[in-house]
Amino acid sequence: NEEIEVINEVAIKRALTRIAYEIIEKNKGIQDLVLIGIRTRGVYLAKRIAERISQLEGERIEATELDISNYRDDQEIHLHTSGFTPTIGSVVEGKKVVIIDDVLYTGRTIRAALDAVIDNGRPKKIYLAVLIDRGHRELPIRADFVGKNIPTSKEESIQVSLEEVDGKDVVTILKP
Ligand code: 5GP
Ligand code: MG
Repeated sequence: NEEIEVINEVAIKRALTRIAYEIIEKNKGIQDLVLIGIRTRGVYLAKRIAERISQLEGERIEATELDISNYRDDQEIHLHTSGFTPTIGSVVEGKKVVIIDDVLYTGRTIRAALDAVIDNGRPKKIYLAVLIDRGHRELPIRADFVGKNIPTSKEESIQVSLEEVDGKDVVTILKP
């Protein structure tokens, strides 16, 4: 097994800062903006982007989290209980939502996230931001904000390590 570093700590920081700027620009500010991170690592990325947007705009913006494990269409259990943590309520109603995840692959997780968000209200707009797009989509889903496109084979996988969970910031590609 070969492991190749594709993004280092500094490049992750730059990518997240760029995405923060892009979100502010596309949204023309932070009015009605809601950031939702997908568990696990999407949550930390969402928190970091929220932090940067807050610094840039001089106004606090929070990140909330979404656990879509009950919504995956390739899992046997379809509970379809609220995918949101209790605190989230219907914060998406009429809002511009940015869904944030670490890696975009087939698109099935994001399809499930869209279901979960829409079940909780009617957002004005939904965007998608990902740190890595590794290709191989199986659904008509694309990201509005991408940290880095890393074309992979299906046999390869991307390893995203984040300080908050893994003790370091680095993205590597694992070759079989
Ligand atoms: P999808 O649902 O698009 O097939 O896969 C995306 C979800 O699975 C994301 O939540 C992501 O965390 C995880 N995922 C899929 N492929 C990879 C990968 O190569 N590396 C990592 N770290 N996560 C992946
Ligand atoms: Mg994930």
